[in-house]
Amino acid sequence: MASERLYLFDTTLRDGAQTNGVDFTLADKLAIAHMLDELGIDYVEGGYPGANPTDTELFAQDRNLKSTFTAFGMTRRPGRSASNDPGLAMLLDAHADAICFVAKSWDYHVRVALQTTNEENLASIRDSVRAAKTRGKQVLLDCEHFFDGYKANPQYALACAKTAYEEGARWVVLCDTNGGTLPHEVEEIVTEVCKAVPGDHVGIHAHNDTEQAVANSFAAVRAGARQIQGTLNGLGERCGNANLISIIPTLKLKKEYADAFEIGVTDAALQKLAQVSHALDERLNRAPDRHAPYVGESAFATKAGIHASAIAKDPATYEHVAPETVGNKRRVLVSEQAGASNVLAELERIGIKADRSDPRVARLLEQVKERQTLGYAYEAADASFELLARRALGTVPNYFDVTQFDVNVEQRNNARGERVTVTMAVVKVKVGEENMISAAEGNGPVNALDRALRKDLGKYQKYIDALKLTDFRVRILNAGTEAVTRVLIESEDEAGEHWTTVGVSPNIIDASFQALMDSIIYKLVKSGAPA
Ligand SMILES: [Zn+2]
Repeated sequence: MASERLYLFDTTLRDGAQTNGVDFTLADKLAIAHMLDELGIDYVEGGYPGANPTDTELFAQDRNLKSTFTAFGMTRRPGRSASNDPGLAMLLDAHADAICFVAKSWDYHVRVALQTTNEENLASIRDSVRAAKTRGKQVLLDCEHFFDGYKANPQYALACAKTAYEEGARWVVLCDTNGGTLPHEVEEIVTEVCKAVPGDHVGIHAHNDTEQAVANSFAAVRAGARQIQGTLNGLGERCGNANLISIIPTLKLKKEYADAFEIGVTDAALQKLAQVSHALDERLNRAPDRHAPYVGESAFATKAGIHASAIAKDPATYEHVAPETVGNKRRVLVSEQAGASNVLAELERIGIKADRSDPRVARLLEQVKERQTLGYAYEAADASFELLARRALGTVPNYFDVTQFDVNVEQRNNARGERVTVTMAVVKVKVGEENMISAAEGNGPVNALDRALRKDLGKYQKYIDALKLTDFRVRILNAGTEAVTRVLIESEDEAGEHWTTVGVSPNIIDASFQALMDSIIYKLVKSGAPA
């Protein structure tokens, strides 16, 4: 049976840009648009041309995308003609493949917010769709507050949708603008809409205010809708929009959807999904959500010994999909309950062959347990565990030695008489027979130390040039009798791979130093740097 085409519409650059603390530059918007295009998203909504300089400039660019690049804006204002509305003119003139109009579909909003009549609102929809069609654009109509509107006055909400469809809009998009509609309501209402407008012209735009935006999107698809709107990582104002990063793998990997629908995302592109998700976080300067479905660091992590031994025999026993299909990987957490199975499974994952009867494996397990009582947390620090394991098995070269470091923090008045804190670190490193000294300033002791340490590693410098610290977490623990500090550092390399290292000490700088050292050495091991 031929499967039906389902379309994906991304609004990260428009609705996602409404997120608290998110402020995309033109370069960000272009990079994200290309990322979405490569992923195979059908529609990329760029923003509001004419509304702000970034969006105006974005629409002026030659973007060279396969995706249908879409401009967003209002239908003509009530009481004006389509040819005499500067906002509409700007939208029609924008260099875009499609125009997505937003219109009221709740009679209460028409009366109170627009202060016009129901008939004039329908006329505005009709005129705007017609004007855009005349200009050769593909047209979408976002029906704002559609579900609340439908509950209040189903005939009117439907009339808005039908008017746009009958005038030639390619898509009528049902928006759950306040995000409060529940999946069973979405399913019932979309079923009714699809009796008036064919489902292959109906889209769903869900917000996550009851944490059901993804479920609501699927409810709409089950009821007949054939376009899903959402954002990368569920970015969006308040609680976010429907998360395309969760929707895409569900459509591709779950039989019910995979058999019924075809989407623009190929299997090869799906394997880049985790990378796309992390790249967006990177751009937003956010730490990735460890527990994100499919793409989070913990999405395929197992802790308990009994699960680990089952996973070692057959991963399918505890995994709903194979992690590689979405570009993620399996992790067996080496925790306090660690048994030899966990350790062996983790060794196998990182490519070290070892035998259960090997005395070095028992010794490694002992070491893990000892260090955990001191406060180390290897379940969160995969890279530090890997180094510990490789050291126990004798495979980590001694690349370099830090013979001394010094961190100085000074608070004083600057030339303008302002109180400033200046931090400076000096690190002495021995690489082979060569002694080197590096100094660097930083915005704090750890930052200064990191910069100084990574400034000059001689022949190893080229391996760590692109290394970046992406997250730094500190916790004070009570281990034994005294308080100790645990530092977890997350790093990223040029290939977008992330890893976490750990350091523990009563002194926060010592703890940070251990984690920094582990990160650098891990990168050298991973890059196959010569001893
Ligand atoms: Zn929205």
